[in-house]
Amino acid sequence: MEHCDIAIVGGGMVGALAAALLAPTGLNIRVIEARAPEAFAAEQAPDLRVSALSAASVRLLQQAEAWPHILAMRAWPYQRLEACEWQGFHTRFDAGELGSDYLGYMIENRIIQSGLWQALALWPNVRLDCPNGLNALQQTDAGAELTLTEGQRLQARLVLACDGGESLTRQLAGIGVTAWDYDQHCMLIGIEADDLESDTTWQHFTASGPRAFLPMGPRQGSLVWYDQKARIKALTALDNTALAEQVKAHFPPRMSNLSVLNKGSFALRRRHANQYVKGAVVLLGDAAHTINPLAGQGVNLGFKDVARLSELIHQGLEARLDFAAPERLARYQRSRRPDNLLMQTAMDLCYHTFSNNHLPLKVLRNLGLKAAEHSGPLKKRVMKYAMGL
Ligand SMILES: Cc1cc2nc3c(=O)[nH]c(=O)nc-3n(C[C@H](O)[C@H](O)[C@H](O)COP(=O)(O)OP(=O)(O)OC[C@H]3O[C@@H](n4cnc5c(N)ncnc54)[C@H](O)[C@@H]3O)c2cc1C
Repeated sequence: MEHCDIAIVGGGMVGALAAALLAPTGLNIRVIEARAPEAFAAEQAPDLRVSALSAASVRLLQQAEAWPHILAMRAWPYQRLEACEWQGFHTRFDAGELGSDYLGYMIENRIIQSGLWQALALWPNVRLDCPNGLNALQQTDAGAELTLTEGQRLQARLVLACDGGESLTRQLAGIGVTAWDYDQHCMLIGIEADDLESDTTWQHFTASGPRAFLPMGPRQGSLVWYDQKARIKALTALDNTALAEQVKAHFPPRMSNLSVLNKGSFALRRRHANQYVKGAVVLLGDAAHTINPLAGQGVNLGFKDVARLSELIHQGLEARLDFAAPERLARYQRSRRPDNLLMQTAMDLCYHTFSNNHLPLKVLRNLGLKAAEHSGPLKKRVMKYAMGL
């Protein structure tokens, strides 16, 4: 039987950040991850899986000492965010209005994870166990006992479930979820084009679902096409040239000479764990909640989970108290679950309000976008919230 203080199942963006923020405690941390991220090479086209990271998430990556590694690979700042449906009815957020250089960064998920792994390599108390996975989990008086796919048995005081939406750790701990599928599916399309507004991310609402653009460099970007399942399936079957023609026909005319580099599609599912803590098991990131990606908040919420739990564990150790005491873990759940639920609900409201053809609602939502544009202090508050300031 091997021992550690904290076992983290899943070394993706959320699990790796948790390890990096907890490493300075000196606790013995074991990260169990099934797959290592593919090595980065500058000539690779940007991956399809990209995250719009808020300024607050960037700060956490700086604190984790992963930021220089990420910048040494690639990351793209954006200064403006636009949401519109009818021409002339839009809301625009500009980092300059808050005296900031950027609203956030577009970064490939693999690069965020790789940057964190490079930072973890400097901590002798953190062991990255990859490839390995979780097979079985048993709660004990001293924490939990894990059986790994490579055959080891591991006793941990605390187990952090960071193994994504389908979390096996959550299932083995017996934590249920409330979940449903959205009607819309989502297609990610990597593109190269001229005349890209490379400092602006935009979202254009249509009755069948939003169309969005995420800048990834002076000539590259990622398009997001939300639509009914059958439509996304038909688009996925097209070759890149035919898909580029469909994009030209159905996206706003904001770019020219467009060519498609890669594509992929995803079903959208909302999930929320009924509890975030059970015995020695704590859920973070997508293991606890998956959200409609329409406002790019998923991993930003996961990073907030990590920041809160890490703060509570640090406080416990500084006060020479049990870092994994039930009341400490309950405080984590009390502070994060309502916040995540609120964001999920706000995204659902947005999803239902914008994805339909009901004329009065159409008028109202366009008036809403225009009103938001001129709402002064309220607009600034929304911007600050989105940036995590
Ligand atoms: C189409 C789409 C677009 C999105 N866009 C954005 C965006 O712009 N901004 C944003 O903030 N969020 C976005 N999200 C959400 C974001 O991708 C997720 O919130 C984020 O990936 C969650 O990170 P995670 O580390 O919790 O889980 P994951 O990224 O799922 O990582 C889980 C890790 O655990 C490992 N693992 C799983 N099971 C086991 C096991 N049994 N044993 C060992 N290891 C295991 C996996 O290999 C993986 O590395 C988007 C999501 C989708 C679907």
